Amino acid sequence: MRDYQAFLAAAAALLGERGLTTDPDLVGPWLTDWRGRFTGRALALASPADTAEVAALVKLCGEFAVPIVPQGGNSGMCGGATPDDSGTALVLSLRRMNKVRAFDPAAHQITCEAGLVLQTLHETAEREGLRFPLTLGGKGSATVGGLISTNAGGTQVLRHGSMRAAVLGIEAVLADGSVFEALVPLKKDNRGFDLKQLLIGSEGTLGIVTAATLRLVPAVAERRVIWAGVGSLHAARKLLLHCEAAAGDALEGFEVMPQVTLDDVLHQLPTARAPLASPHEWHTLIELVAGPGGEERLGEVAETMLESAFEAGLLDDAVVSANETQAEAFWLIRDSIAAAERAKGPAVQHDISVPVAQMPAFVETAVPLVEAAFQGTEALAFGHLGDGNVHFHVIAPAGVDPAEWYAGEGKAISARVYDLVTQWHGSISAEHGIGQLKLGELERLGDPVHLALMRQVKQALDPQGLLNPGKLVPLASPADSF
Ligand SMILES: Cc1cc2nc3c(=O)[nH]c(=O)nc-3n(C[C@H](O)[C@H](O)[C@H](O)COP(=O)(O)OP(=O)(O)OC[C@H]3O[C@@H](n4cnc5c(N)ncnc54)[C@H](O)[C@@H]3O)c2cc1C
Repeated sequence: MRDYQAFLAAAAALLGERGLTTDPDLVGPWLTDWRGRFTGRALALASPADTAEVAALVKLCGEFAVPIVPQGGNSGMCGGATPDDSGTALVLSLRRMNKVRAFDPAAHQITCEAGLVLQTLHETAEREGLRFPLTLGGKGSATVGGLISTNAGGTQVLRHGSMRAAVLGIEAVLADGSVFEALVPLKKDNRGFDLKQLLIGSEGTLGIVTAATLRLVPAVAERRVIWAGVGSLHAARKLLLHCEAAAGDALEGFEVMPQVTLDDVLHQLPTARAPLASPHEWHTLIELVAGPGGEERLGEVAETMLESAFEAGLLDDAVVSANETQAEAFWLIRDSIAAAERAKGPAVQHDISVPVAQMPAFVETAVPLVEAAFQGTEALAFGHLGDGNVHFHVIAPAGVDPAEWYAGEGKAISARVYDLVTQWHGSISAEHGIGQLKLGELERLGDPVHLALMRQVKQALDPQGLLNPGKLVPLASPADSF
């Protein structure tokens, strides 16, 4: 029997009043995930002030066999930061650890604590004429620790890669309370495994990320946002290849959405206007950017790229943003899709990827197949075509009871979509991770060799199974030894 009272007394002595609370009113907001799909209970909420406190706390949790659920901005989409309903876990927030420890503008590097919010990171970089080249809709909440632990993507992966490409160094507390210190980036270092890579995307199951050194790039001096209409997703892919060849490094984003999705957004956002005069089967949002010194050339690049695309019959119509206000208005349409789809009622969402070249054929196969198999549903895909990653949403038939639908038909639809993705050699999680939402599907469809390796790594780094139990890679019986 674990002695929770003795644990809480020791944790309170360690963290002080600001660092630990069991007050249900204060703990409550940390117990439900962003989408409201999972709610759990917790022993307490811990908010350590520094890495030494995190290390001492993790050690204490080991001694009392108390599971730890790390939580950043709680903007994750898979219930990864939500405790189970046993009430035995400690929710660990790094919100007090949000300092910038070092900033070297000349080296394009920043070292910050894991609780720093993405938006603040952007603003800090901008003050020195730099930028952090990863952004996403949850930037006002998502933290550096959460972004690393989910290997987050976003709309600039096409050019800059996902979080993995931005992380130069990591500091983390491991399950035994030791501190893994690898913050100083070396351009060349072949002393064996690159261990920080294990922590990236591990969803809090292998260690608590406490700080990171991140790569920055020069600020955007000029951008052109182009909205183009095309006849099919195959045409959109051809246009993407053309833009890659014509714009090279200047191409930063290439997003797609079908006409029905644009209509949904325009319906939801009465102030928004359709960028093109007439409807098109598919719409593409293309962003070109230039750093300092490249401003003048960017206009030329955009013009030449579009002219040659028109000549080659690669698009039906296009408009280039005339100014920043119009560029923002185009992006607002893209960023409003999730809310517009949510307003249509219950839906199951899948962030999936298949090899980039296969994506048009996949979507053209999957949409009618799902709609025919599940009468009254509406399937649609939108997102990051350039990365072979789309959000594949299936909206419930009108009038269903949401809870019943999610547990029944919604689950069956997701299984069908993931079966298809697996047949097409894709991933059931391109961006958001596994958390608790996709745990069963990963077990069902994951490669047995991959899964066994992940379990071995988990077993080696967290033999008691105390770090985020029940997520991503659960051990057979977490904390059984107690
Ligand atoms: C509107 C909106 C748009 C989004 N768009 C995108 C998108 O385009 N691309 C994308 O990839 N994601 C997107 N997301 C999802 C989300 O923002 C990311 O998954 C983000 O990385 C989560 O960060 P967080 O700090 O909120 O982490 P949380 O949600 O708090 O946690 C996520 C996971 O990381 C673990 N964790 C958190 N902090 C730590 C830590 N310090 N150490 C160890 N483990 C930790 C948690 O236990 C959990 O498993 C979006 C979310 C929203 C709300």
